[in-house]
Amino acid sequence: MSSTIPTSVGHIVIGAGIHGLSTAWHLAMELEARGKSGNDIIVLDKTGPGAGASGIACGCVRNLYMTEPIHAILRHSVDVWTYDPVAFGFQQVGYVSAGEANQASDYEKLHRSQARVGYPSELYQGMEAKSFLKKIWPDFKTDGIDVVLHEKVSGYAGTRQAIAGLSQKCRDHGVRIFSGVEVLGYDTTSGRVSRVRTNVGDIACEVVVLGLGAWTPKHWAMLGKAMAIEARYADGQAVRKDMWTYWRLLEGEVYVDQPYRTAQDLDPPVLHVELMNTPVIDPQTGKMLADHLYVYWKNGAERMDRPGVQGGSIPIKIGPQAVTDPYGHDNAEYQAEPEFADYLTAAMGQLMNRFEGSRKQFRERPNGGIGAFTPDNVPIFDWIAPNVYMIADSNHGFKMTGVGKLVAKLLVGSQPVAELTPFGLDRFANGRTFGASNSHCPWV
Ligand SMILES: Cc1cc2nc3c(=O)[nH]c(=O)nc-3n(C[C@H](O)[C@H](O)[C@H](O)COP(=O)(O)OP(=O)(O)OC[C@H]3O[C@@H](n4cnc5c(N)ncnc54)[C@H](O)[C@@H]3O)c2cc1C
Repeated sequence: MSSTIPTSVGHIVIGAGIHGLSTAWHLAMELEARGKSGNDIIVLDKTGPGAGASGIACGCVRNLYMTEPIHAILRHSVDVWTYDPVAFGFQQVGYVSAGEANQASDYEKLHRSQARVGYPSELYQGMEAKSFLKKIWPDFKTDGIDVVLHEKVSGYAGTRQAIAGLSQKCRDHGVRIFSGVEVLGYDTTSGRVSRVRTNVGDIACEVVVLGLGAWTPKHWAMLGKAMAIEARYADGQAVRKDMWTYWRLLEGEVYVDQPYRTAQDLDPPVLHVELMNTPVIDPQTGKMLADHLYVYWKNGAERMDRPGVQGGSIPIKIGPQAVTDPYGHDNAEYQAEPEFADYLTAAMGQLMNRFEGSRKQFRERPNGGIGAFTPDNVPIFDWIAPNVYMIADSNHGFKMTGVGKLVAKLLVGSQPVAELTPFGLDRFANGRTFGASNSHCPWV
């Protein structure tokens, strides 16, 4: 993609996904602000920008997490998306999540935490929650819904556009992106990586940033790190865990006869519904497909040849081993089964009249991808060698674009960056492992 690969450079970012590109771009701006240049940064990708999860994600940007330190990071992510929403294909349509009464106290907590970090949201309960939904989607079947959180600044990014936009920002600031350059190993001197070995030659460097998505465990092992960890919790409990667990992400698209719009003829907010006590029933057979409902969807315009929505559900655990190559839609082993389409369309039909009987409208195509999750399913952002910084987002990707901005500050500064500190590796040893929520989803 760019000229000849250098033999020596200041910063090597490995992986041209959302995190590698965001970090490289922000680092270039930080260096420029100090009279230096982005020329000292290269991004290496064994395939090319967007070849990993970042090229196939749904792109939803939300702040609906029980893990409160995430809320502060998300504010930075929205700043990044809105820096140039056109270049990144960011649609700031908002994010609406709906739950049953048993989630009301969690939603209240979330709402307060979001307010504390300046992430505006509105909370509706009881009849107010139902009428809020009906105002946007008049055909919403609100039985069972008792609480709604409306995050006003969230939305979704067009995944391809986001990668194209971030790549361009990198190039605009002098960063060189090399496609088809695979990192094969690391030479270390006194624990520091002195040289990165690639298929086209070795590169001496001062600092390495890993933005490797599902390939993170492979490089973790290359750097000689342990594949299991003891995770200590605040209550003193200690649990031996695999360092990395792969999950299959499920998403798909459903065509609609009429464009998917709100009653006010706007692009609707991303919708996320989790009803823990509401089973999903197959409308054809009456069979129970799941004992709870968890679904999200949004306008699918970027990827579809005619109007439709793109959505997903809870990922499926694979385990500590998985095949990363080929990746994504090219790997037949990890595509969503037809049962996923049954579930998605049944759940959508249970929630809105317009999606009743929409199974035949499901777009049949490869739609899977895997991700590497951390021991507590919460990101790890930390130095894993004196000069190697790892961004392991535990599949929170598009919501975490702001991490690149924060990591860039960390790399040029002399102080820790407060927002990143809770996500350090030391949390597992120090009893700060993040806990589980009462959701069925691994993201807490
Ligand atoms: C189906 C699906 C739907 C999703 N939906 C959402 C969503 O709605 N919202 C959200 O926030 N997140 C979503 N995610 C998660 C999100 O996409 C990921 O968390 C995020 O894209 C990870 O970004 P990354 O930059 O860490 O890694 P990736 O985008 O995976 O990039 C890693 C890059 O590293 C390169 N690479 C690997 N090995 C090497 C090597 N040895 N040398 C050089 N390069 C190498 C790869 O080619 C790849 O391009 C989804 C994920 C999937 C799979």
